[in-house]
Amino acid sequence: MQTRVIIVNPKKPEIKKIEECVSILRRGGIVAFPTETVYGLGADGLNPNAIKKIFKAKKRPADNPLIFHISNKDDIRKFAKNIPSNAEKLIEKFWPGPLTLVLKKSSLIPKIATGGLNTIAIRMPSHKIALSLINSLGNPIVAPSANLFGKPSPTLATHVLDDLNGKIDAIVDGGNSVIGIESTILDLTTSTPTLLRPGKISYLELKKILKKVEYHPSLLGKKTKIIKVKSPGMKYKHYSPNAKIILIEGNIQNTQKKTQELIKKFKSEKKLVGIINNKSIKKTPFIKLKFIGTTKKIIASNLYKSFRDLDEQKVDVIIMREVDNSNLGFAIMNRLKKAASEIITV
Ligand code: AMP
Ligand code: MG
Repeated sequence: MQTRVIIVNPKKPEIKKIEECVSILRRGGIVAFPTETVYGLGADGLNPNAIKKIFKAKKRPADNPLIFHISNKDDIRKFAKNIPSNAEKLIEKFWPGPLTLVLKKSSLIPKIATGGLNTIAIRMPSHKIALSLINSLGNPIVAPSANLFGKPSPTLATHVLDDLNGKIDAIVDGGNSVIGIESTILDLTTSTPTLLRPGKISYLELKKILKKVEYHPSLLGKKTKIIKVKSPGMKYKHYSPNAKIILIEGNIQNTQKKTQELIKKFKSEKKLVGIINNKSIKKTPFIKLKFIGTTKKIIASNLYKSFRDLDEQKVDVIIMREVDNSNLGFAIMNRLKKAASEIITV
């Protein structure tokens, strides 16, 4: 299969190009496109055969359900049922935007998209390209991140090409996905709303709207045996580049010392090391440096790109220090912990 790359203006999507993409979706094809969080791999959400192609192209396990994207807040009533008043409040405040809600699904939603669950994960994105694709298709678009299963999510069209060239019908190149990490997922089918995946919209922001919000135990690092997996994505290793990631937690002094020790060890093993966000390390033929910013917003935006860039430089190991765990930092740390092969606390 030849994958077409269609360049679209993210601020003012050209109608003709959007229609071209939508005609592919209508025929049951799959098209990657930018959202404000990461690039998604889209299919017509009401076409089971098209949805099947997403699982195949990504090599994604069939029990890992997909997020539905809508372009109009009211459409939630078509695709979800028993919608609690909490949902209305959250939608009012955060949609369009990076908040996904888990609700009871309506009978319109094919089970293949929800991994057999009777719930639906749904959000309204704010990216203009995403909105115009959904609008023009007239159906919701299911879109998991447009990467091969287990790899870092793509934030540029070139990342999608690296993973899926020849496996999907088209890619809309609309520049970078600014937020850089996936949406916050909140389950509203439990008696207390439960945070399943942290994202840009933080626990505290949700707490301001809802009286009570719980963290899913897996987010707090508790070794609970998840009997009924609420968000099946949780049980898989995620977001990992080819290089092994070592995450170091602890104060600056101790983490610096540990980083130096590790560099020495890897040098003796003739391994190429990538270092993210550590200005005290000097570049050598064995060390590739990557500075991705000091604010959490910029770190989130550049995190996955830095993994992919270091993979391209063929590093064997990536070393990164923890970031402050509050608000967006909690989401960054969640991704880092899932991506890491080793977490060292010093
Ligand atoms: P991705 O779009 O690749 O980031 O993955 C979508 C995430 O949404 C996965 O972690 C899924 O487990 C989660 N998800 C999708 N549908 C549901 C659902 N009905 N209930 C709980 N989690 C869901
Ligand atoms: Mg994903």
